[in-house]
Amino acid sequence: MIINADLHIHSRFSGATSDKMNIKTISLEAPRKGIDVIATGDCLHSGWIKEIKTCEIIDEGTFEMNGTRFILSTEIEDERRVHHLLYFPSFSAVEEFKKDIESKSNNLESDGRPNVHMGGEEIASLAKDVDALIGPAHAFTPWTAMYAYHDSLKSCYGDLERYVSFVELGLSADSDYADKIKELNRLTFLTNSDCHSPHPVRLAREFNRFEVRDATFDEIKKAILRIGGNKPILNVGLPPQEGKYNESACIKCYTHYELDDAQRRRWKCSCGGRIKKGVKDRINEKADFPEPHHPDHRPPYLHLIPLAEIITKAIGQHTPFTQTVTKRWNEIVDVFGSEINALIDVNIADIAKVTAPAITEAIQAFREKKVIIIPGGGGQYGKIELPSKKDGFIPISLGPKDKQTSLFDYSK
Ligand SMILES: [Zn+2]
Ligand SMILES: [Zn+2]
Repeated sequence: MIINADLHIHSRFSGATSDKMNIKTISLEAPRKGIDVIATGDCLHSGWIKEIKTCEIIDEGTFEMNGTRFILSTEIEDERRVHHLLYFPSFSAVEEFKKDIESKSNNLESDGRPNVHMGGEEIASLAKDVDALIGPAHAFTPWTAMYAYHDSLKSCYGDLERYVSFVELGLSADSDYADKIKELNRLTFLTNSDCHSPHPVRLAREFNRFEVRDATFDEIKKAILRIGGNKPILNVGLPPQEGKYNESACIKCYTHYELDDAQRRRWKCSCGGRIKKGVKDRINEKADFPEPHHPDHRPPYLHLIPLAEIITKAIGQHTPFTQTVTKRWNEIVDVFGSEINALIDVNIADIAKVTAPAITEAIQAFREKKVIIIPGGGGQYGKIELPSKKDGFIPISLGPKDKQTSLFDYSK
């Protein structure tokens, strides 16, 4: 069977997260996005574990609520500030691992994403002891990421390097970026939302599509390891330019800089702020190949712009967090079942029947890859612009029966 899985989120027990990151809300929002499996995040936190335990138990490592499956995961920050993602086979594995790191952490019970006074190799070794999977989270981000502080997997994980089976690309990178680095070729690429809110513009803004026999931890583990016929068949994510750290830019005024210019200025912006090296520049620095070398096992990468963001632009709102955007989003998702269906699969003429012409045209522009993206950097997300006729965009002409826009009044 084919499943969609978002394998990195944070609960309300992590810093700077929404109160709505509770298991029930997540379980109800996931299918609206088209997601079958969510990794819980924060599974070392007692409060969150208690909440996960309110789910129905499918097997030792798989839980379910409202039809959404959950597997146990956490993110950990090591002593060099590198973030690691871990996936556990059972509650007992979580408990055992937690005991092993208890004396090395002072915020295990206060932060869903704890810090530990250990290096990557030590953490990987404890993960291996309990049969957990481990890999670097958002590997190229200019802080709290492996390539921000290390030049190689070996430098981060030492002798446990071969135990690492995946790398999470992060919002500012895709497979074309990451496959310029030779040592990553053998790894499975994971694309996850790392969301702190269940809002549809955040949850599952990146996800993985796997071929598995069942939506369980064991089967997903096999897919990540690519054994027994299981495998990732698609990575889905934002265009990398939409990420917060795509280009090198000032973290104070967000002025963008070319790499050599930033180096000449010693990473100091003319405003006095610090310039943060973008993921694009970091990868080009690290690159073994000028062009991506995709190994045979690498699945295609689909660039997705969240529907709420497309609607926001189409109807001229300033943020996707308004009631108007939510209403339009619901109108579409109510009819087509999930966001992914509406964005990718449904006939554009059918979309025209349930929403405003401007929104239909914006979805069409997205499908035709004509949405214009202004790159992000320095901690500021990239922005999207819709194309006009002068950009060569021609809306499809719909028959009169496709234009039943009188269903809703979009003039207000
Ligand atoms: Zn992180
Ligand atoms: Zn500046």
